[in-house]
Amino acid sequence: MTRRRCYNRSVATSLITIGDELLAGFTLDTNSHWLAERLRLAGRPLRRITVVRDRLEDISGQVRRDLSDPETEDVFCCGGLGPTPDDRTLEAVAHALGRETVLWSPAMERIERRVRLLHEAGLVDTPEISEGHRRMARIPAHPDHVFHNRRGLAPGLMYQVGHRRLFVLPGVPAELRGIFTEELAPRFLGGRAAPVVRELRFLQAMESRFYPVMRQLEESHPQVSVGSYPQSVSQELVIRFSGESEKQVLEAMALVRRWAATMGLEPVT
Ligand code: AMP
Ligand code: MG
Repeated sequence: MTRRRCYNRSVATSLITIGDELLAGFTLDTNSHWLAERLRLAGRPLRRITVVRDRLEDISGQVRRDLSDPETEDVFCCGGLGPTPDDRTLEAVAHALGRETVLWSPAMERIERRVRLLHEAGLVDTPEISEGHRRMARIPAHPDHVFHNRRGLAPGLMYQVGHRRLFVLPGVPAELRGIFTEELAPRFLGGRAAPVVRELRFLQAMESRFYPVMRQLEESHPQVSVGSYPQSVSQELVIRFSGESEKQVLEAMALVRRWAATMGLEPVT
């Protein structure tokens, strides 16, 4: 039997990134950018990204809001799983889910093993487990899946909440990417196709000249999303088309190409 792949526009994903340093401009939120692309390619486009502070109420409030949004299917959050007191995501998620936190012994055993290895390698002073380490293994009760995280100590988590799924991932970019690519996407994000994306690039073209044809496309091809993105370095105007149906995307593209030709504009690609 062949598996049907569908791109479903009516459901979407939301992402919460957590960290005072993101909001203060110390750290660029690269996790959002990376996940936005990966989720689009997995046929689960992001509808919303919210950046919140490392505050219990800010995190739990946003998790609750996203989990009760009828148009959201999966909720991802990342950051704040570390061993220091400013890492409050696990506690906040437990709060949002109305659950206790529990010491998750497989996670604790992994942390103990890794700290021992780090000590043997001379990378940490002591093989002793600290209070901070114990915090990292204290997770909201009844996870539906715990990700191993080969690159770090904090476990990634998945909770099924009604028909939605809440994924909780570490903020360290290498750890987040590793868990997503090796564990999460293969197991939980299969079966959907990415939207079809095509681009036309015009050199030194004025954006405003495309206004009429883009308005027309809103009427004639409402299922195709069309955006115009001027590039300051290359001086190209990128018109990007994306949608579920390749036929409709190509039709929309042909229309813009014809419109441009009437103004003497030829796309460079
Ligand atoms: P945390 O998971 O909050 O303990 O953060 C661990 C490290 O990852 C810190 O250096 C953070 O600044 C960094 N980090 C956390 N969230 C992000 C993000 N969204 N994008 C890039 N780096 C991040
Ligand atoms: Mg943090």
